[in-house]
Amino acid sequence: MSDNKIHDVIIVGSGPAGYTAAIYAARAGLKPIVFAGSFTAGGALMNTTEIENFPGFPDAIMGPDLMMKMQAQAEKFGADVRMEDVTKLDLAGDVKTVEVEGETYKTRSVILATGAAYRKLGLEGEDTFGGRGVSYCATCDGFFFRDKPIAVVGGGDSAMEEATFLTRFGSKVHVIHRRDELRASKVMADRAAQDPKIEFEWNSVVKEIKGDAQLQSVILQDTKTGEERELEVSGLFIAIGHDPRTELVKGQVELDGDYIKVNHPGTATSMSGVFACGDVVDSVYRQAITAAGTGAQAALDAQHYLEGLPVPGDLN
Ligand code: NAP
Repeated sequence: MSDNKIHDVIIVGSGPAGYTAAIYAARAGLKPIVFAGSFTAGGALMNTTEIENFPGFPDAIMGPDLMMKMQAQAEKFGADVRMEDVTKLDLAGDVKTVEVEGETYKTRSVILATGAAYRKLGLEGEDTFGGRGVSYCATCDGFFFRDKPIAVVGGGDSAMEEATFLTRFGSKVHVIHRRDELRASKVMADRAAQDPKIEFEWNSVVKEIKGDAQLQSVILQDTKTGEERELEVSGLFIAIGHDPRTELVKGQVELDGDYIKVNHPGTATSMSGVFACGDVVDSVYRQAITAAGTGAQAALDAQHYLEGLPVPGDLN
């Protein structure tokens, strides 16, 4: 519901960046509202399995568990977390407006932590076979492909993680990569390479997705010879990276390529009182821990801004 108050800070997006910003802002007494998203609350880690490299969890932690702990920690300090989608932002001026499904909120500062969305292959059939064989989330959908052949597209850490996880279910897991060398980190690549259920389809791209009611096969094209062949699969998991979610702020804050531009090492954007953190600003590291780190920075920067203190990198 809308209110007539002018809030200190509204955080758009959850995930490690948004929730860490919320923990810091709440502990600073700023009573942040977090619009966490209706479908995407918790961000990309809600779709991952074990996280082995987040400090403090030597025995690993499941992605959704970590996000629920971060949310609980933010709420414990007074953050108001709402599973709602922001539909419009007006970021100009000293008082910004945030629209959420028809309701309007006013705030003196905004922290953007909108993350990044799954990248699609852009093939015909990719959307129509969604829920019928094509998926972007092994943890969500892997179970449906028990004892069936599965393929994963991509050569990065996400693809290795998905492929390794999917070996629990599939009769075979084919990793389709467009080159003959993986982008994934050594530890993840080695784990996949040593798994007897995983088979690599090197120098291959998916050209066509085939099936009737359900996905039945994909046509692969060799990137070197141009040759085509059919691979029978019941599940196709696409793990080719993510695109930063900037649609709400395009035309309002400066972008750097696809990402929101911030004045490193700070989180100030080109718009006064607007800060950005996490995957929506990061084309390089894209880790849960680095997203959390920039979330903390954004909250500290917003706090300084609200107190009229200098903000690192704020050129406004
Ligand atoms: P990524 O590192 O950008 O890898 C994307 C992969 O998809 C690349 O191998 C790329 O091929 C391929 N690709 C991109 N567009 C394609 C297209 N149109 N058709 C076919 N293939 C395409 O993305 P990511 O794997 O999602 O990882 C993102 C970040 O998250 C990384 O920093 C990664 O380390 C991190 N991450 C970490 C973990 C973990 O530590 N547990 C798990 C997942 C992700 P090329 O190699 O040829 O470019």
